Amino acid sequence: MKTGIHPQYFDDAQTTCSSCGKVYKFGSTKQSIVVEICANCHPTFTGEQRFMNTGGVIDRFQKKMEQAKVYKKKLAEKKKKEEAKKARPTKSLKELMAEL
Ligand SMILES: [Zn+2]
Repeated sequence: MKTGIHPQYFDDAQTTCSSCGKVYKFGSTKQSIVVEICANCHPTFTGEQRFMNTGGVIDRFQKKMEQAKVYKKKLAEKKKKEEAKKARPTKSLKELMAEL
């Protein structure tokens, strides 16, 4: 092994899960690592339906969904209006003058 080019290796590096607090020990070049989720608490491994609301991700998503609903509604109304406009027959100047 060439000297001076390899990072320091820790045989007992600690990885801590910030969600459940479980500590894993394995070799790494960093002495301590903090992860947000691990195999002990991830819904895929636990089988439970739980939402990790980190930083209001779900709130933001729901807000966007609400905005999308409003937008869709507005778009549908606009389309309806345009179709109604198209369906209305166009009158010639002569016809308009006749109405007066
Ligand atoms: Zn965990």
